Amino acid sequence: MKKVLLGAGIVFSSLLLAACGGGKTTSSSNPATGDEKIKVVATFYPMYDFAKEVVGDEGEVSLLIPAGTEPHDYEPSAKDMAAISDADVLVYNLDEFETWMDNVKDNLNKDKTLVIEAGDEIDLLAASGDGHDHEEEEDHDHEAEESHDHEDEHDHDGKDPHVWTDPVMAIKEVQEIAKELGEKYPEKKATFDQNAAAYVAKLEKLDADYQAAFKDAKNKTFLVQHAAFGYLAHQYGLTQESIAGISPDQEPTPARLAELKHFVEDHGVSVIYFEENANSKVAETLSNETGVKLSVLNPLESLTNEQMKAGENYLSVMEDNLKALKESIK
Ligand code: ZN
Repeated sequence: MKKVLLGAGIVFSSLLLAACGGGKTTSSSNPATGDEKIKVVATFYPMYDFAKEVVGDEGEVSLLIPAGTEPHDYEPSAKDMAAISDADVLVYNLDEFETWMDNVKDNLNKDKTLVIEAGDEIDLLAASGDGHDHEEEEDHDHEAEESHDHEDEHDHDGKDPHVWTDPVMAIKEVQEIAKELGEKYPEKKATFDQNAAAYVAKLEKLDADYQAAFKDAKNKTFLVQHAAFGYLAHQYGLTQESIAGISPDQEPTPARLAELKHFVEDHGVSVIYFEENANSKVAETLSNETGVKLSVLNPLESLTNEQMKAGENYLSVMEDNLKALKESIK
């Protein structure tokens, strides 16, 4: 009992210290043993899951953006900043997604906190915006190529940050996390590499499942609520069309809605994918007006507390997504 109280006291005072921005941050474990747990903060759900898989028993990973919170519009509070400053490692996806990271990095003691941009080594695709570059004509391959190149050349900020929804890019992120952790903690490098390899094997199986499901499909176009599946589409030769653009809260114009209605009719779209955790009103309207069924596709931007308690994770949700996608891609 005494020990528990003491522990709580230490946590509380270190929070207080961090919150006041005063003094050196204290570690929650005993440095004398030389075996303290690494404190890792991960920004949003997939970063949390990937970091946990790599870190294993060597550390505690906490989620910065709370369960059920939309990460696109997130800004860190003073309390979040204190949690980040107190961490040994901060894992995030991309400067193009966590756009507030510049500010965080400026205010961080880099000797204490290692900042890992998991998607650092990934060549980013251009954002597909509201989907206009997928406008399909008879000769659509050529047109799509052209407009893709065009965006690449002229729009430096218009990159698609949703790399994690592609299992192959997820592997790159896991490997990047392991590599950078191993550089900071060389004595634990072998463990991180081993953990990463075991998880990568599962991601490779997921990738194989996706490949097998789509390689002979005739209808390769799918319609989603917000454009979070561009890398997945690119990886498996599919075409993503989106109601909103790159951010889930973007409201389509009436003209865009009319265009989507035509798109659904012209392409024989059989399923409209929506997200449980975001505003799905437009998807519902479109479904009502076209008589096309709705199905859930989870962009993994956050999992609810219930989903996490039920043991759902990146792999299980991606398997659910695959089942859902097979409803229209076949
Ligand atoms: Zn998104």
